[in-house]
Amino acid sequence: MAQRPINTTQPNTSGSPSSFSERGLVPEESREAYDCAIVGGGVAGLTLAIQLAQAGRRVVLFEKETYPFHRVCGEYISMENYAFLERLGVPLAELNLPVMTRFTVSSPSGVALHHPLDIGGVGITHYSFDPLLVGLAARHGATIRQGSKVTDVAFADDEFTVTVAGGATYRARTVCGAWGKHANLDGKLKRPYLAESRQGRQFVAVKYHLQLDYFPEATVEMHNFKDGYCGLSPVPGGLTNCSYISDLRNLRAHGNSIAEMERQVLMRNPLLRPYLQAAQRSDFPPLVISQITFRERSTVDNHVLMLGDAAGTIAPLCGNGMSMGMNAGFLLHPLLLEFLNGRISRAALEEQYTRAWRQLLSVRITAGRLIHQVFGQPQLTTAGIQVLRRLPFLTDFILKQTHGQAY
Ligand SMILES: Cc1cc2nc3c(=O)[nH]c(=O)nc-3n(C[C@H](O)[C@H](O)[C@H](O)COP(=O)(O)OP(=O)(O)OC[C@H]3O[C@@H](n4cnc5c(N)ncnc54)[C@H](O)[C@@H]3O)c2cc1C
Repeated sequence: MAQRPINTTQPNTSGSPSSFSERGLVPEESREAYDCAIVGGGVAGLTLAIQLAQAGRRVVLFEKETYPFHRVCGEYISMENYAFLERLGVPLAELNLPVMTRFTVSSPSGVALHHPLDIGGVGITHYSFDPLLVGLAARHGATIRQGSKVTDVAFADDEFTVTVAGGATYRARTVCGAWGKHANLDGKLKRPYLAESRQGRQFVAVKYHLQLDYFPEATVEMHNFKDGYCGLSPVPGGLTNCSYISDLRNLRAHGNSIAEMERQVLMRNPLLRPYLQAAQRSDFPPLVISQITFRERSTVDNHVLMLGDAAGTIAPLCGNGMSMGMNAGFLLHPLLLEFLNGRISRAALEEQYTRAWRQLLSVRITAGRLIHQVFGQPQLTTAGIQVLRRLPFLTDFILKQTHGQAY
């Protein structure tokens, strides 16, 4: 059954997740084209929706899941986004979020480096953050269609038709693809990166929220194991986010059992072992996603403007995928307004967005990809950490490459 939109003419002002999930009404098909249809309600899509709605534009956002829900993510938000999020209306200062100012990294054998994290970040859970963003978007007049999976996006006569499961269609002048690491629409649009991905390395990612007896204050930890690494950092509620990424081969080699892979591979790192033992005792099953690749992607496909992980997935060890998603929307929204106001052509919009995205974000993605290749290689990681222990300025330099400027 299709879902009722959160907002059509009456802005939703409650911001409470439960008010976003009323079921039962067949969606009205839009007669007037939306200015922008955003596919995917993660941090990239939602923050773009808020910006466009704040500018008075007609925005519809489609999310296939129903809020609130958990996502596989370290849930560390770099401070570079703090002012931006506050400008959007996110009351960060009132949320009493854990702040991180220190960093520990270890090799699979347990050789560790401890270092200050200059720019730092805060911990937040998607379970509470996403509904907050949904509330803000709706309050500014965006229509949020949750539980609505987009099955097709077609472009003809300078306009898009977006089709959702169940067959309803929506017209839009622009479409932004914020559907994350991989989605049905990548195949539908025949995105070129898919052909290469089939030959490349594939990763699996896992997340827990742990109640630990002890976790060092204000610290992000990153522990390597063979062909992967695991991050730990505090999130609200006295919990610790524990999320890792591993080459799919580790899982296959252990009968596709997460618990067995953790015992045989991850727990060989003596610094990681106690946390994972706690994880295996926890009442909550881990959240698992697969088919992750780090191939280069295009920022525009069939006139759909991509942002967030859909435009390029940064290695999670850089801890900044959410920043990059928000940054992309920040770059894109003034260009979209220029186009919607008739000041630039569609070709100029696509060309200027691609150029701006590359200028700001491709260095970080490339840095992430390079570091990602070293991480998870036992000897290389140990040697690298030993070098970094002697050269703190080099650690600062590497950390800077994976973080951006405040905006
Ligand atoms: C193990 C791990 C740890 C990480 N840790 C961090 C961290 O600590 N800090 C950080 O900044 N980044 C981290 N990242 C990266 C970060 O999670 C992502 O970069 C970020 O969430 C991407 O946001 P997004 O909005 O682009 O995509 P997503 O958050 O994936 O959102 C995409 C949305 O699109 C929806 N969708 C997909 N297809 C459709 C469709 N057809 N129709 C409608 N909706 C659709 C999905 O349901 C989803 O909600 C980590 C990643 C991993 C794997």
